[in-house]
Amino acid sequence: MPDGEPLSILIVDDEPTSLVLLSSYLTRAGYRVLTAVNGAEALHILGDEGPQVVITDWTMPEMDGLDLCRAIRSHEGITFTYVIIVTAHQTSDERLVEAFDAGADDYLSKPFKSKELLARLRAGERIVRLQGELANRNREVHRYNAEVEIVNRKLAVANKELNRMATTDELTGLINRREAMTRLANCWAAAKRHGDPLACITIDIDNFKKCNDAYGHAAGDEALRRTADVLKTNTRCEEAICRVGGEEFLVICPRSTEAMAVIGAERLRRAVEASTIRYGDVTLRVTISAGVAERTPSMSTPDDLLRVADKALYKAKDRGRNMVQPASDTGLSSDGDGSGEETVLLTANPTSGQDTPV
Ligand code: GH3
Ligand code: MG
Ligand code: MG
Repeated sequence: MPDGEPLSILIVDDEPTSLVLLSSYLTRAGYRVLTAVNGAEALHILGDEGPQVVITDWTMPEMDGLDLCRAIRSHEGITFTYVIIVTAHQTSDERLVEAFDAGADDYLSKPFKSKELLARLRAGERIVRLQGELANRNREVHRYNAEVEIVNRKLAVANKELNRMATTDELTGLINRREAMTRLANCWAAAKRHGDPLACITIDIDNFKKCNDAYGHAAGDEALRRTADVLKTNTRCEEAICRVGGEEFLVICPRSTEAMAVIGAERLRRAVEASTIRYGDVTLRVTISAGVAERTPSMSTPDDLLRVADKALYKAKDRGRNMVQPASDTGLSSDGDGSGEETVLLTANPTSGQDTPV
């Protein structure tokens, strides 16, 4: 109720004379007065006009003042109605308790003095205004909470996107180097804890510089994207495929021995070799070399594992590229000196297709 606006009062009484007298008195006192001759009519007016105060006679046919009180309380929404019940003189204490229990806020005994009625109405008005302020504040809190909720949702989306950007390689959509190192460290710790094997595959595209030199950087980017797609499609779901450098990739293979990872690496090598990359009217062919290593007791950090896998990868390059090199076949995995001579090459050099080889 805005300040300065008169309180609107609904008087409910089945006796027309009392209704008229009280109505004209309160109108003269400056209130906006509505009247009803029974409870049902009162409920209608309450719904339509929303008076802030109801002064109801207790004794009325069909719906008496208490029933009306209860109906008001059970229908009350956000707006509060202050109810004064008018009792016959000689009302017992029990009856008064009954009235308050039914939801009455105050009572007046007939006959009442006009000054007392006005005093009680002023007390009621204070409560009505306070209730109004409370409702407004509640609405504000609701609105504020809704706004906070919207902001929180936007923040969650932004955080998710930030996290995606921080962990993903922009060009290929693969896990980036930083995230790769985190995951490798986690897998390392888990392998150590559970005594599980852990292997990794380091991959490097063969002669990739030539691709850039011959067809331009954009063609190189497309070749990187397509190769990443092929690697991703051919990696098992528990393995993490990451882009850790320009044309270098890492596959983390939890619970895998070197032999198991070699099978996976060979699958990747074949898949890349079999794929063709269209760039404008040029068809590019790409091959990869891979080094595979397994965590051994002599290694103390994930970097040791990567180093051994990298050395195996260099071996694969030395031996002609487009092949998978297990570290154990070179003696790298045991002490990392790379002196093993009896390397088993898993694949022969590729036969060149009719497409443009990189
Ligand atoms: P190798 O078989 O010995 O690995 O030969 P390579 O030519 O692949 O290796 P090298 O290290 O000489 O060259 C790698 C090239 O990869 C050079 C660099 O321009 C290219 N490269 C690195 N990152 C990107 C990239 O994001 N986009 C493109 N288009 N090229 C890249
Ligand atoms: Mg390369
Ligand atoms: Mg490289």
